[in-house]
Amino acid sequence: MMKETVRKLALARRNALTQREIACKSKAIVQRLEPYLKGTIALYRSYGNEVCIDDVHLKSYGLPVVLHDTYMCFRMWHKGCKMKKGAYGIQEPIEGKVLLADELDVIVVPIVAFDEHLYRLGHGKGYYDRYLKQCRALKIGVAYDCQQVEKVPIEPHDVCLDMIITETCIRKKDGALN
Ligand code: ADP
Ligand code: MG
Repeated sequence: MMKETVRKLALARRNALTQREIACKSKAIVQRLEPYLKGTIALYRSYGNEVCIDDVHLKSYGLPVVLHDTYMCFRMWHKGCKMKKGAYGIQEPIEGKVLLADELDVIVVPIVAFDEHLYRLGHGKGYYDRYLKQCRALKIGVAYDCQQVEKVPIEPHDVCLDMIITETCIRKKDGALN
């Protein structure tokens, strides 16, 4: 299957979730995620039915700012931080320290589809593939179980994640499930 076919299939399943299911599953994912959030962290603001991680108990963390059609950087968010609507209508910080990719200890990555080998598909712009290549951070993907597919079609630039957290389990690179 082509990437675009797999994206459509996984997005259709995610789009079928109710707001109630999203809230409940997101809460379970945040609970599993929190123990790993140590050091300098990069999160994201959810878009559509993406896993919502806004409720993590952190005072400050990096959020993506799209700089260019295909590049992004992360800027430190804090409570009361001035924000503005950026690419795709997503809120981005317009103040706060710009983080360097190698300053990050953990980066939490949104997912459209994933497979058991921890490969992911995004929306097809490659923002995270470009960014993750420069990072030494622990790469944690968050998704709902319904976004898992048999096999993600991969290309040489696709970056594999270290861990994927869903509402029912944590999948790690070495194949461990817990
Ligand atoms: P996504 O990861 O968002 O699902 P793709 O993996 O399909 O998207 O990548 C989208 C585009 O971005 C591709 O055309 C790919 O060539 C380009 N791309 C991704 N990573 C890089 C990179 N590190 N350097 C140059 N181009 C890249
Ligand atoms: Mg990719």
